[in-house]
Amino acid sequence: MSKSNISFLLALLILLSCQTPEEVHKIPVYAWMGGPGESTDEELIIKFSDLKEKGLDGLMYNGGQDPATYKRVGKLVKDAGMEFHAWIPTMVQKKTPEIQAEWYGVNGKGESALDKPAYVDYYTFLCPNHQGVYDFLAGMYTAVAEVEEVDGIHLDYIRFPDVILAKGLWEKYGLVMDREYPEYDYCYGTKCVADFKALTGIDITTVDDPSQVESWKQFRYDLITQMVNRLSDQIHKTGKTVTAAVFPGPNSIAKKIVRQEWDKWNIDAFYPMHYNDFYLEDPEWISEVTKEGIEATEGRVPLYSGLFICPEPEKREVEKDPENHGLLPEEMGIAIRASMENGANGICLFTPDRMTDSHWKAFKEAVHYVYEVRK
Ligand SMILES: [Zn+2]
Repeated sequence: MSKSNISFLLALLILLSCQTPEEVHKIPVYAWMGGPGESTDEELIIKFSDLKEKGLDGLMYNGGQDPATYKRVGKLVKDAGMEFHAWIPTMVQKKTPEIQAEWYGVNGKGESALDKPAYVDYYTFLCPNHQGVYDFLAGMYTAVAEVEEVDGIHLDYIRFPDVILAKGLWEKYGLVMDREYPEYDYCYGTKCVADFKALTGIDITTVDDPSQVESWKQFRYDLITQMVNRLSDQIHKTGKTVTAAVFPGPNSIAKKIVRQEWDKWNIDAFYPMHYNDFYLEDPEWISEVTKEGIEATEGRVPLYSGLFICPEPEKREVEKDPENHGLLPEEMGIAIRASMENGANGICLFTPDRMTDSHWKAFKEAVHYVYEVRK
């Protein structure tokens, strides 16, 4: 090695050693996480400092609906130097005395999501077309948003049940969803049917194939959009942000399968779940959906690309359950690049607990890279 090379290296070393970790370029990284379960404060402090150290900037944290939980955990997350967002499902709610049975969605066969939820027991979706539903959600979210340690509210399940399941889930549920079927199509409750009739003159219950009625689709996109925008206005009064986990798209997937026309939502950031395995796509597909999301929202607010992590990479080949699929360590770099080069403002991991050491290693390399957005 020549003298000039050595002095160059020395200069570089001095330069690097003067930089604090914050000064080294890193893309913004969030993660979805639940808790705290039985964890003590000490255990949580260790967990959160480790995540911060690994490169996380904020948590979308699901800890139920009690503001006290968010106060306790939020303080520890903030002390660790991360943002703290309360991640609380919206339309999926368990029956409580506060929530009336008539507020649940009704499918095309006239069955209530409370008595006969689609696919899985927890799919007890409310109908967005009830003032009582809005009042309940507004009250619940406001109480959490008013907690000092909470930076924002993160909406999830802010949608109708999947009228079509993602292709990667068909085998698991033994279904072929080549079209919309009435048992998964919502909402045909009395109020929705009457309101749509008043608006368009169409009695949707007499239509042979409701999936062909564009105004009926739009009616339901609008019900979700109105719910989001009303909640957003209310939560913003507390000075906190509103963000949401959404399906990829909006046009290619979200509108079609869960009726989310999310480009019309007035919120502060989108976290599309770019879970390629659910759609039987490879990680490079994240390029297309990221680009689509950025174009649809015209970059008005940040978009963080949600990445689904494979918890046991060595079993990925033989694993049947798509919930255990996801990005392998060697796919992390591809997924992060696909997100960033197509305009994402950062990424969001589902979940840090699914990340293996090999995932973290690949992650570390990818998040410090300086990406240029493809034109
Ligand atoms: Zn309804």
